[in-house]
Amino acid sequence: MNLPLITCAEEHNEKIAIVTDERAFSYRNLLHISSLIATGLLHDAEDLQEQRVAFLIPPGFEYVATQWGIWRAGGIAVPLCISHPRPELEYVITNSGASIIVAHPQFEDILRLIATEKNLRFILTSETLPNHVSPLPNVDIKRRALILYTSGTTGKPKGVVITHDHIQAQVTSLITAWEWTSDDSILHILPLHHIHGIINVLTCALWAGAECHILSKFDVETVWNRICEGELTLFMAVPTIYVKLIAAWEKASKERQKIMTAGCGKMRLMVSGSAALPVQVLEKWQSISGHFLLERYGMTEIGMALSNPLHGQRYAGYVGQPLPQVEVRLVDESGELVPPGIPGEIQVKSPGVFLEYWQNPQATDKAFRDGWFCTGDTAIVENDNYRILGRMSVDIIKTGGYKVSALEIEEVLRTHPDIQECAVVGVADLEWGERVCAALVLRSQRQLTLESFRSWAKEQLAVYKIPTRIIIVDELPRNAMGKVTKPKVVELFHIK
Ligand code: AMP
Repeated sequence: MNLPLITCAEEHNEKIAIVTDERAFSYRNLLHISSLIATGLLHDAEDLQEQRVAFLIPPGFEYVATQWGIWRAGGIAVPLCISHPRPELEYVITNSGASIIVAHPQFEDILRLIATEKNLRFILTSETLPNHVSPLPNVDIKRRALILYTSGTTGKPKGVVITHDHIQAQVTSLITAWEWTSDDSILHILPLHHIHGIINVLTCALWAGAECHILSKFDVETVWNRICEGELTLFMAVPTIYVKLIAAWEKASKERQKIMTAGCGKMRLMVSGSAALPVQVLEKWQSISGHFLLERYGMTEIGMALSNPLHGQRYAGYVGQPLPQVEVRLVDESGELVPPGIPGEIQVKSPGVFLEYWQNPQATDKAFRDGWFCTGDTAIVENDNYRILGRMSVDIIKTGGYKVSALEIEEVLRTHPDIQECAVVGVADLEWGERVCAALVLRSQRQLTLESFRSWAKEQLAVYKIPTRIIIVDELPRNAMGKVTKPKVVELFHIK
């Protein structure tokens, strides 16, 4: 029995699966090359039996063929992040207990050293592939498929273990909700060590028999060029990417802007997720592209959980309702369900929820309550739609006895004429418990004093929500996904 992803691909043999900067690859190519890679990985074994294979390959066909090769050989794929320095790569390789490392020649120096030191098998993607396919194992879909490393707010990243049937559940839920078909064509611009890029874009596309156009590197002009060509039907990105696309549109000539807008008009769906989408960005993007972005909410551990509807009414600032096969509830600190209008922790139950934190049963136990995964995110239901208030640990600030949402304050601060970007955090304080503080990126040539900022904010926010300290920075600290790293923002206030 083949894995369902492979069975789906076999139905689309001659269709284009992957398009890279250099050329197009059919599903047949992908099936063939991945079976050769699987053969090479197996060496003489019949089944890798869930050995972990860490791989570091830039976005492109080789990445996908290797990921499929690992799965087809019965291994667990551990994708490494191309922007990580050596200690972080080493941590993932060691923590996952990888026995094989596959590397693109671009990363040979750093990874060969690690492989030699740890006595691991080392394979370069430039090595010649076997000239025949050996019998590949039957991989049960209950087996582990992926380990994705996700950073908490404290401690080292944890390995989130996802099985083949979790992938199936996550992907089929999104295919149903967003009506993916084999006529779709998506531009892939997201990191390939993260759930958003791996599941929502790459695997959904290939499961549906669609075309996945992979950019080897994110570049805003290239993205616009591809949109202008008018061949794409779908686009998915994080809010920071939409911000960059907006900035490039604003700089373009009137003529070019028309072409850019027309390119967006050819698409059937544009999605934002992985971080809160500022309402201003949504509105600006709508005026440029004609698309009211579909915002969704998800997490490495659960896949996607909440989404605005494909056809129905979408609301700015809201992430809609539970996706197919997903149950969501909101509970208070004592574990009681909260009614609409009251904030609570998002808990999720679905066939897509991960299996375990890799070799960390304590953390796994702690993350579940009565079979529900506790996300650590807070939300509120208003008019039947969920609104995300932020991570309980960093975005829910307890100040002078009040509980305030950093995301809500940020949404207001972004309407200040001099503020381009902002991040609100709670900084430990003897008097207030936590003090509301804001790191601000100003528009060019603008200045702002705490006094003028606070007098403006008094007109917009309850007094206890107004930041009492501000720091002006050139840019906000962000991770590889472009998400603001709040613990680093807090550190800025400790340094000052
Ligand atoms: P990751 O596991 O890296 O995908 O991060 C998941 C976290 O991103 C969630 O726990 C949320 O805190 C945040 N997140 C994802 N989607 C959204 C969204 N639409 N709005 C606000 N936060 C989001």
